[in-house]
Amino acid sequence: MSKIELLDRSKKSSFGLNSKLIEEAYQFALESHKSQKRYSGDPYISHPVAVADILLNLKLDTSTIITGLLHDTLEDTLATEHEIKEKFGDEVAVLVNGVTKLSKIETYTENKFQAENFRKLILAMSKDIRVLLVKLADRLHNMRTIQFIPQEKRRHRIASETLEIYAPLAGRLGMHEFKDELEDLSFQILNPSAYSSLSTRIEYLKKDKSNLTDKIKSRIGELLSKNQIGYEIIGREKKLYSVWNKMQNKQIAFRQLSDIFAFRIVTKSIDDCYRILGIIHNRWSAVPGSFKDYISTPKINNYQSIHSTIVGPERQRVELQIRTTEMDVVADKGIAAHWSYKENYNLIDNSSSDPVNVTWLRDLVEILDSGGSSEELMEATKLEMFQDQVFCFTPKGDLIHLPSNSNSIDFAYALHSEIGNRCVGCKINGKPKPLYTKLQNGDEIEILTSKNPSPSETWENIVTTAKAQSSIKRFFKKQEKDEFVTLGMKILQKILKKDADISIAELEGYSKKFNRKNPDDFLISIGKGNIRPRELEKIKSKSRLSFFSRYRKTNSLDKTPLEISDFQPGVAIHFAECCFPLPHENIIGITSEDSGIFIHSNQCNAIDKEYKKEDWISASWKDVDPEQFFSSRIKVSVKNEPGSLGTLATIVGAEKGNITHLNISEKGEDFFDMIFVIDVHDLVHLNKIINVLAEVENVSSVNRFLLDL
Ligand code: MN
Repeated sequence: MSKIELLDRSKKSSFGLNSKLIEEAYQFALESHKSQKRYSGDPYISHPVAVADILLNLKLDTSTIITGLLHDTLEDTLATEHEIKEKFGDEVAVLVNGVTKLSKIETYTENKFQAENFRKLILAMSKDIRVLLVKLADRLHNMRTIQFIPQEKRRHRIASETLEIYAPLAGRLGMHEFKDELEDLSFQILNPSAYSSLSTRIEYLKKDKSNLTDKIKSRIGELLSKNQIGYEIIGREKKLYSVWNKMQNKQIAFRQLSDIFAFRIVTKSIDDCYRILGIIHNRWSAVPGSFKDYISTPKINNYQSIHSTIVGPERQRVELQIRTTEMDVVADKGIAAHWSYKENYNLIDNSSSDPVNVTWLRDLVEILDSGGSSEELMEATKLEMFQDQVFCFTPKGDLIHLPSNSNSIDFAYALHSEIGNRCVGCKINGKPKPLYTKLQNGDEIEILTSKNPSPSETWENIVTTAKAQSSIKRFFKKQEKDEFVTLGMKILQKILKKDADISIAELEGYSKKFNRKNPDDFLISIGKGNIRPRELEKIKSKSRLSFFSRYRKTNSLDKTPLEISDFQPGVAIHFAECCFPLPHENIIGITSEDSGIFIHSNQCNAIDKEYKKEDWISASWKDVDPEQFFSSRIKVSVKNEPGSLGTLATIVGAEKGNITHLNISEKGEDFFDMIFVIDVHDLVHLNKIINVLAEVENVSSVNRFLLDL
């Protein structure tokens, strides 16, 4: 494929490509890859041109074809994303970036395939399926030229990755042409002797039976012509890898497989498909159990066709596929065919017109979103990718597809995780059956539910779908968590002799003290007994003075330098210790029914998050005594060197501040983070101290510390 041909074809294309922009992309790629060469010795540009050509054949849009041309520029040349955005727009830049990310995954997967990378792959895919289409085209051309790679190990790695990951993905997207070619190319690299002996054998048999093939073909043709149906009959080539695979899996002898004659009959309409089927079955007998109607019930990837095996004109077994021209294109090109068939067919926004196969992607994304681990995902994906499907119906007649071996619990979770959690029984085809009953194609399933969720822990072992598994896990994880949180809270309340719930801020302080990530973890640790009651006694005695406890009672208003709107005499005033408000900064009062008014800095993280707006009241400073001290808090990050602490204390002292508490919040090898409570006169005073400390040699950062909620 040369540049001239590509550009020429893009101009002649009937589906409105912007050939001027494609030519610009070609020039850009040419200049970027300038002096680079492929292993084959060809100039590098031959590769992106070939990839773009494959995409052109799939009738994809201008952006995708341009992405094909540019797909290696970010990774291998000096070109930048910014340049691509400038020249070809955001859409192309996003696509090229997506393909580049996928390419980086390859380089990490030297030996065994890592789930984490697979996750990235899936995520990239689900954002825009065109990224994956370009990647598949890229991989296809690389596989077509793989013989030029000198290192055998590398050839093997690429081939097995193709066989395990890319070929099945192409299959799931319904792109069977891609899948078959990727498989056969990989098979040739991974098992050259099996490949060559099979291909020799098949060539030989083809010649041997070519007379018979022609005879069968013309006998069927005559019959159809006599009935005046338009048709095309195509002999089906056996794909080497699929023959090999069948021999491996089913222990079928090669002879058995190669004895079968296979044809595809393509016609105009669905009506004609059924007429052809009727005419043929009327003339030759069908092999029992071989008939499958994927026209009325398409496969999960939208594959449609009628399959039937007959005992044919020459007493041979003849496999037939009967389908329309459109179905034939979809069978070969899959999702890419949908792209070109329907204009404005938007795969980027997940509109309801998605073909069935895109829901597969979304299921995966859902598992990711719900936080399943990547290993779980990998397992789940591998399972589902290689398993066949079973089709069942809801009582309303909706079709639900599941991996084979699924049961009613899988079915319930496929409908909705809530239905799964509340499922207590099922009826299959109207009869009550145990939940673990394996579903059969065509079953109608009615799920019986209870009011409250009550899944069983043993379900996890009997379900097949990843969705059911992760929903069940999530349910029990959450339940366990809730139980321990409640228990932990009860223990803590008992020890602190408090009846009401303990405030979040207080818990926040305790969880820091006990090195727990958050209050929930802290309570779970108590609930599980990892923090013992005796350890909790420590906070009990000091709890009122606790470093992080939020509130400190101040004097009554007459001695407090504050003006508060609608103030009622006798109401207690507190300075909030989440933020330690200081004179000269804007403040907000928050009323509470039983504890008075709390004064917060308007910088405080708590006010927005924890209090309703209607509890806010205006407050301001008034007649502050310049000699009065107020507590404030700063966080300092210091190099871990002898004397650091002393220097800081001296400087704060020299600035007339007074350190009253000190807490090392984090200690690394080189640095530690400290939180000081310093008494200062006002915000100006505090800022001055912060500025001076920031200049100290071993200090890497100083900030006012507001409790982060
Ligand atoms: Mn490439």
